[in-house]
Amino acid sequence: MKEERKWNMIVKERTKPEELVILQTLKARMELEEKDAQNLRTLEKGYEGEVHFDHWFTNHIVESLIINDLLLEVNGTHFQIDSLVITQDRLHLFEVKNLEGDYYLDGDKFKTVAGTEIKNPLHQLSRAESLLKQLLKNLGFYIPLEPHLVFINPEFALLQTPLKSPIILPNQLNRFMDKMNRTTSKLTNKHTKLAEALLSLHIKKSPFSRVPGYDFDRLRKGVICEACGEFLESYSRNKFICRQCESQEHIESVVIRAAKSFQLLFPERKVTTATLYEWIDARIPPKTIRRVLKSNFSAKGECSSTYYE
Ligand SMILES: [Zn+2]
Repeated sequence: MKEERKWNMIVKERTKPEELVILQTLKARMELEEKDAQNLRTLEKGYEGEVHFDHWFTNHIVESLIINDLLLEVNGTHFQIDSLVITQDRLHLFEVKNLEGDYYLDGDKFKTVAGTEIKNPLHQLSRAESLLKQLLKNLGFYIPLEPHLVFINPEFALLQTPLKSPIILPNQLNRFMDKMNRTTSKLTNKHTKLAEALLSLHIKKSPFSRVPGYDFDRLRKGVICEACGEFLESYSRNKFICRQCESQEHIESVVIRAAKSFQLLFPERKVTTATLYEWIDARIPPKTIRRVLKSNFSAKGECSSTYYE
């Protein structure tokens, strides 16, 4: 971590959750069951909201350390944090929701105006808050924690929002940021240590991941357009052009993407020229695949049994 900083610094960038990437890849190559398709839509919507949140948060100009997408564990219990912002005198804990439509709070229940109850995000936030408090205590850090529940979608409304609550509604986002930016903050080594401690505890493999079963033989083979998900047919002058969205991609980039998606779906299998040739349904000659793999991955093994990592 750099010592000199002007204001905020992102110490952990947000990346697309692996579960989401896998489901998006599978969707193109097999028929998803309704529950998996629903899970995919929920994940896509959630991720879209978090990206929107990150964009809004670039307005934050107070000296701080930002950690996105943390998955932590305390006493055997996992919890997820969308964004954690370390400032001089406190930790801001952000839970981001991308719901749209009209909702209301019925006592302890969170409902749509039609009366359908959904999981109360306030409960989720207070759970994360108390588990994080516990973890900080275990680590020996004493710093106040301020939880926020951000509804980022401009089409969201909460009728009768309680006055004292961690809720930030879409029409309050600007004022909330102004208020945050009016505080002064000077970070020290102690804050850096806290960020490092939390980062080191981040769990990479989510135990919540719900991915359906699949096997190589039954997945549809071929090359998929990155922009629209359509299968690409053939290339000319080293470029594939998508028939559906007309986006273009160099064959080298197509091979790299295909190899990466194969690695993601089949981490236990080796990437070889022959496997990849089958994976992309023979759209690119083995000679080209081998050349691209050689220059972008590291080759292991000998001659005919060469594989790439
Ligand atoms: Zn396309």
